[in-house]
Amino acid sequence: MKFVPRFLRPFNDWEVEEVEKLLLIIQGKRLNADLEDRMVWKESKDGIFSVKSCFNSLDHSSAVPFPWRIIWSTFVPTKVGFFAWEASWGKVLTQDQLKRRGWNLANRCPLCCDEEETINHILIHCSKAKVLWDLLFSLFGVNWVLPFSVRDTLLGWLAPLKDKKRSKVWRAAPLCLFWMVWKERNRIVFENDVLSIQRLKNSFICNLLSWANSSIVEGPLSLFNFLDWLGSC
Ligand SMILES: [Zn+2]
Repeated sequence: MKFVPRFLRPFNDWEVEEVEKLLLIIQGKRLNADLEDRMVWKESKDGIFSVKSCFNSLDHSSAVPFPWRIIWSTFVPTKVGFFAWEASWGKVLTQDQLKRRGWNLANRCPLCCDEEETINHILIHCSKAKVLWDLLFSLFGVNWVLPFSVRDTLLGWLAPLKDKKRSKVWRAAPLCLFWMVWKERNRIVFENDVLSIQRLKNSFICNLLSWANSSIVEGPLSLFNFLDWLGSC
């Protein structure tokens, strides 16, 4: 094919469109011949790039509110944070997600065996998970109405407690619950184990105590003192 230099052939439609866009952008702009050309970062006042201004521009442009503060907590193990992050975006490979990807299977929640498995069902609305939610609320002595989705649950998970340390445990509690339910679910699905509500309750309390003892409270609390402390006003 013979090469034709740009200046010897007419512009095509796409190129004309791009030139028109460029002319519109520079229309009305005044050039200062005394200044050198330079790159300007439009997201900061001084025109200089900073990670903070970049983060703010991304954060404010996000149309979907996201509970990043509660998920990326220093009191919660990173792998649990990642799981909650995936769950909030509806990206965990529950059976409804597998069906969407072309897997031919009968969708049934492995915990209650009554409803189809979705991430919102198994972590929030499943009757077996609800046992843990009721336990959590009774431990802290609060009443709470759970919204439909994992994301809305975390977005609305405000700290109703005056004590800062108890508030930290309160904020970590739903993530601990999610993790324990998911581990129990995987034990049933992949290891052919049977559901144990007692094991679910024990693992939830013991993990929450372990997280609290590792970074929230001063000095390790016994299980008895921990439960007593959670319920104190
Ligand atoms: Zn269920």
